[in-house]
Amino acid sequence: MSVSSKILQKSESFYNAYERKQGGDPISTHYCPGCGHGIVHKLIAEALDDFGVQDKGILISPVGCSVFAYYYFDVGNIQAAHGRAPAVGTGYSRANPDSIVICYQGDGDLAAIGANEIIQAANRGEKMTVIFVNNAIYGMTGGQMAPTTLIAQRTTTTPLGRNAENEGYPLRMSEIISTLEAPVYVARTKISDTKSINATRKAIRKAIKAQVDGRGFSFVEILSACPTGWKMSPRESEVWIEEIMAKYFNPGIYKDTIDTRQPKIQQKLIVDPKDYHELLDISTASLSSLEGVLPVPPVQEMIEEIKIAGFGGQGVLSLGYVMANIAMGHNYEVSWLPSYGPEMRGGTANCSVKVSHKRIGAPVVAHPTTLIALNKPSMAKFENEITSNGIIIYDNSLIDTAPQRKDVQVYAVPATELADKIGSTKSANMVMLGAYAALRGYLDTAYIEWAIPQIIKKKKLQELNIQAFKTGMEHIKELLKKCVN
Ligand code: SF4
Repeated sequence: MSVSSKILQKSESFYNAYERKQGGDPISTHYCPGCGHGIVHKLIAEALDDFGVQDKGILISPVGCSVFAYYYFDVGNIQAAHGRAPAVGTGYSRANPDSIVICYQGDGDLAAIGANEIIQAANRGEKMTVIFVNNAIYGMTGGQMAPTTLIAQRTTTTPLGRNAENEGYPLRMSEIISTLEAPVYVARTKISDTKSINATRKAIRKAIKAQVDGRGFSFVEILSACPTGWKMSPRESEVWIEEIMAKYFNPGIYKDTIDTRQPKIQQKLIVDPKDYHELLDISTASLSSLEGVLPVPPVQEMIEEIKIAGFGGQGVLSLGYVMANIAMGHNYEVSWLPSYGPEMRGGTANCSVKVSHKRIGAPVVAHPTTLIALNKPSMAKFENEITSNGIIIYDNSLIDTAPQRKDVQVYAVPATELADKIGSTKSANMVMLGAYAALRGYLDTAYIEWAIPQIIKKKKLQELNIQAFKTGMEHIKELLKKCVN
């Protein structure tokens, strides 16, 4: 293949068709005419091709105009919360030391909400490359002032121009990051003409190669056009980069210690599943002594999404935690996601538990297959979210109105009253565990009775909790018997 035809060929690290909009143009990006993102994407994709690391590449896209980068790059893609790309990149890179992690960030994402994330990741020398596209404005949200907006630059939030007295000075991120010990390569480039694009290409390649060679953290800031936010034509934007932007944000190599830095050897962490029991504070000694004594039923093909909700103090989070641990002991994939926030301050508390025969992508439960409601506000909040044919188990000692849904199965369990009779209201959550286990039937009763004291270690509650669990089971069995009769 001739050099010219290779140059014109689309990079293999791009998808053949961009399917952001069904029925839309599959070869165009969503960026505005004259926007710099497309050029930066191309330079990254070519570098990944040329270093032969497409299959190891992980692109972490930000919140901002480039949020949809995952529609273009045919590599592993993760979309991070605003400003959190370096934190996500840290986790990915440490768990997968062979990967090539590229955090792609804009100036609002990196220099405002994510300023601490980037400084800390750079300071730790994480094995990643950060591509920082600086267009001195918030593009996606309509052209507001960014930390990199220049003095006197007009934006929708600085209609008279940025004023240092009011808004401070534009942050020079390359200069800040280059003062840190750990980064091996820090450069600022611009894309305003062919020459500067070539210089950017060189910088991106150098930064990615540093990572391929295991040298650590590399950072390339690129002054890039946002004609829409700047209210200029693409040509005017190029001139503005040259004549205004590059005067304040001087292009150059701010740090290059690649050749003097030894490669960082990062070992992949291999965790024995048994170690999870230790991490979760379940005695491994007890587990091994019972191995084979309590065989668990085989894993069924199922995806169960459970929402448990009630007041803080009702054991909502611990019920979810116990359920997740028990299901994990049955060899299911599980997740447990407690909800924190203002609602925890004396209001409703909730947690989400997922149990599945296959790997779980995200722990969020938007449409539960089972709702366990321990108070009235929780029922009101989640009743309509449950899937059709799902199950609602509610504590009718505290909830005096039955749910209205006709397309779900509803079971009233006076958990608080039953727990009171046993000796402690606190064990109402374990009554609900019994009810749940009896209804769903995929968890082994003997295993649960053994596991409860392993997970909830308060001695005085152990017997009580097992009794509460049995009571919940019995209650459901009685209910079901009555239905049959
Ligand atoms: S708003 Fe600016 S940064 Fe966003 S796509 Fe348009 S030109 Fe590019």
